[in-house]
Amino acid sequence: QAKQNGGSQYCFYTEEMDQHITRKLQLENGLRKAVEQEGIDVYYQPQLDVFSGKIIGFEALARWNHPDLGFISPDEFIPLAEETKLIVPLGEKILLEACRQFRQWMDEGHDLERISVNLSAIQFMDPTIISTVESVLRQTEVAPEHLEIELTESIVQDSVQALPVMHRMKKMGIQLALDDFGTGFSSLSYLKDFPLDTLKVDRSFIQTIHENEKDRAVVDTVIQLADRLGLSVIAEGVETEAQLDYLRSRGCVEYQGYFFSKPLSKTEASALLTRSMAM
Ligand code: C2E
Ligand code: MG
Ligand code: MG
Ligand code: MG
Repeated sequence: QAKQNGGSQYCFYTEEMDQHITRKLQLENGLRKAVEQEGIDVYYQPQLDVFSGKIIGFEALARWNHPDLGFISPDEFIPLAEETKLIVPLGEKILLEACRQFRQWMDEGHDLERISVNLSAIQFMDPTIISTVESVLRQTEVAPEHLEIELTESIVQDSVQALPVMHRMKKMGIQLALDDFGTGFSSLSYLKDFPLDTLKVDRSFIQTIHENEKDRAVVDTVIQLADRLGLSVIAEGVETEAQLDYLRSRGCVEYQGYFFSKPLSKTEASALLTRSMAM
């Protein structure tokens, strides 16, 4: 009996593992093709001023519609792109596309402060990163002050490697934001040592602002901390008016989230900008 159970369990796991490996291979091959053939789109989520409601800029977010498997979340394909190093050419394309789009919006007369682009640790540590960013800014004629690079705590953890790159970017005039703040192995020391401009409060704290006093305490503290350190703060994942009201009452100046808009295709984002200009 035990042997039988063990046997069938073994089978079950094998099948599951097979499926997992098959999917992974399928995604890996698909990803390679998608990177070559411009199969990955850039979507744009508006970032707004909490007080005036004005659109300040956009965060560029990668979107992949697999020909057979359908929509694949960045939470699945970005780690895969990192594992396979495809993130380097992919990230470069996303950066270029996002800066091109930003240039176009500025040329159309929209008054935007920034385009935010996520960089993964592998990209950030790649020796070509500085020349890539320089080349993209030159090609697109986007002023470095308008480009914000979003870094995660996994990058800043490796401070020996990360610090010189951050300093070079700062010297170029690029803005640096720390994404998902509060979720990693937060060490406060890098907040004082690293040349950051902005903290992005992770959406997990925003989501339960009204249920959980501890989340309110975290949000309040991050806002105060940023203020004391002379950093900007942006709240991500704002889904309700009540959450926005709370942030306003705490003096948080910027936000993004489904409450105003999901990430939009470039066409949708352009239409939104045109509508808001007419208002
Ligand atoms: P992130 O940079 O923290 O991006 C915010 C994520 O929250 C996005 O998920 C966005 O669609 C989602 N979001 C925004 N507002 C709301 C809201 O109100 N409610 C909820 N529930 N979610 C909201 P997305 O696009 O699935 O991206 C997931 C993560 O994948 C990103 O987290 C980022 O770490 C990574 N990623 C996405 N695009 C890129 C990219 O171009 N390069 C790199 N390196 N990473 C990327
Ligand atoms: Mg981000
Ligand atoms: Mg984030
Ligand atoms: Mg995230």
